[in-house]
Amino acid sequence: MPHDPALVRSLRLIGESHDSITNLGSAEHVAVQESTLAALLDGQYDGELTIDELLAHGDHGLGTLNGLDGELVIVDGEAWRAGADGSVTRVSGSSLTPFAVVTRFGEADGSIVSEGLLNDNLLKRIDALLPGQSGNAVIRIDGNFDRIHARSVPRQTPPYRALAEVANDMVEWTWHDLKATVVGFRFETAAAGVEVVGHHLHVLSADRKRAGHVLGCDLRSGSIKVELINELHVELPSGLELPDPKRFDGDEVVRIIESE
Ligand SMILES: [Zn+2]
Repeated sequence: MPHDPALVRSLRLIGESHDSITNLGSAEHVAVQESTLAALLDGQYDGELTIDELLAHGDHGLGTLNGLDGELVIVDGEAWRAGADGSVTRVSGSSLTPFAVVTRFGEADGSIVSEGLLNDNLLKRIDALLPGQSGNAVIRIDGNFDRIHARSVPRQTPPYRALAEVANDMVEWTWHDLKATVVGFRFETAAAGVEVVGHHLHVLSADRKRAGHVLGCDLRSGSIKVELINELHVELPSGLELPDPKRFDGDEVVRIIESE
């Protein structure tokens, strides 16, 4: 693991076509993403990548499905969907996603938690596992949670409204005493516009009956693993471009953009 802070925090952002991303394999420290957060916020809820194509690039990840049809969580190479009706189902390989990110989890740095961590302290513990408490990383937490506050979103129909307008339709749950796996990412501002900046976590319960986008969680005991991400390959649907890097002038994060 590199210890030069600039290297740790750097993120190579690479724009890809559907064809070029299909030819990419999977590798540790490399994440593959369908479309951008900016496009999702703008109401672009139909994508071109299938779940099978996504899973070719990694075994852990998150996102949503076409039509903004629930929350997608990928654990150990299995894709699960959390519906707004509370149902949790396996996602078929032919399903399409408008926004998702995956990576292959390898030999991760980890920490055992036995003392209980409320949400804010859990996020701090995640960051403490990273060099300089910064960087872009994939996260996996397995454990018993005292509390998980999660949400999902009902399927939308065209003409699509912007994501901010859909917020009123979202459904929230609070679960107590749940054994679960939480999977997600932490991205620096270098990924702004492409990814959610900060921590973005989704949950899947051990009994596969609860899942969703995590709004907050308190870990009673378990394990936390993180692994740095230093490359993010973004499949850009036609007409879409990576956000202009000039917006990030003055940011200490190293941002490299290449386009195919
Ligand atoms: Zn989410």
